[in-house]
Amino acid sequence: MSLIAPQAAPVCRFCHAPLTQSLIDLGSMPLANSFLAEERLKLAEPVYPLHARVCGECFLVQVDAVVPAEDIFSDYAYFSSYSASWVEHARVYAAAMIARFGINADSKVVEIASNDGYLLRHFVAAGIPVLGIEPAANVAAVARQQGVTTDVAFFGVKTAQRLKAQGHSADLMAANNVLAHVPDINDFAAGFAVLLKPEGVWTIEFPSLMNLIQQAQFDTIYHEHYSYLSLSVVERILAAHGMRAFDVEELPTHGGSLRVYACHLTAQYETGDALFDMREREEDAGMDVLETYQGFEVRAQLVKQALLKFLDDAARAGKKIVAYGAAAKGNTLLNYCGVTAEQIAFAVDSNPHKQGRYLPGSHIPVYAPDAIFAARPDYVLILPWNLAGEISANMAGIREWGGKFAVPIPMLRLLD
Ligand SMILES: [Zn+2]
Repeated sequence: MSLIAPQAAPVCRFCHAPLTQSLIDLGSMPLANSFLAEERLKLAEPVYPLHARVCGECFLVQVDAVVPAEDIFSDYAYFSSYSASWVEHARVYAAAMIARFGINADSKVVEIASNDGYLLRHFVAAGIPVLGIEPAANVAAVARQQGVTTDVAFFGVKTAQRLKAQGHSADLMAANNVLAHVPDINDFAAGFAVLLKPEGVWTIEFPSLMNLIQQAQFDTIYHEHYSYLSLSVVERILAAHGMRAFDVEELPTHGGSLRVYACHLTAQYETGDALFDMREREEDAGMDVLETYQGFEVRAQLVKQALLKFLDDAARAGKKIVAYGAAAKGNTLLNYCGVTAEQIAFAVDSNPHKQGRYLPGSHIPVYAPDAIFAARPDYVLILPWNLAGEISANMAGIREWGGKFAVPIPMLRLLD
């Protein structure tokens, strides 16, 4: 793995203004998705600084790209289809887009970071031509087995021009939770302007920065997640590349996301009321005011203190604690708080690619979910708190022996 030296005076990846305002310094930690095989436990684990800053000019919150995207995403362990609620989200999306924009067998739907085809397969099932673009070859191979045509590439102007030259152009382009993972956000946005037809629609989903700030979701900050976006920042990025937003929806995914509908500046779509409303809410929340971002680090420290006290009290009382969900956000939380396998016996995850491995940093072993029923722990700490409803329903059986669920963010609490 190669390391890019952090710049002495980092600049904004969108507008290039100097980044002088810190949001939170999470210290040095391993990559949140670098799960370890047993033989690697004894080796030194690479750690990288994780420091989020906010740009005082455009208000893009961002972390330094200390690790090249090629190192992170070319053999990625994340398979979208292992989350039932995410697969359902994709099915509902496909049906809604087909109905709203008249997508049919003459259309082309392109998804960037199409993963294992969890989304495009719903368009394929409706007889609609698709093209997935996915940088991780192992994940793209799974998509192809499912009948989802997939190009293995990082997306940007070069890839868009190559695909256009090959005859591709898109009526609908989806970028779900990928804009945040792109180091060169300008090159990425410019690629859409190339590949999108004149009346094409680009939908962009991203976790809402307003929710991150208001609900202390500091654990969603990790090295692979370069940018943290508000509607107002996304509108600035679109404008810089000859595009505009015309609608926005709020989604419950990832602790509160936005889906922005974008098109070329010259396209016919009228601006929806929801867009005016969300602009106003962000303005009221102070998303374009630096003071809004101050004090965030102190709130993260309070979350840390509450989690450590809970683990400490439980240990003193002889209680057994395990974790559910080997999610990236869980690794940021555990490593920021300095939690180890002595405090949490194991974690479980339904993704077989994570089972039998160890969490980066904390070295907590990952098992299949059944391990919880064998161990009968007193507490199950739900790390992907955005899926707490789904997980507590699926694992309701822990109540048989008096087991309880705990959720760490925005402040540690037990579920009834
Ligand atoms: Zn900026």
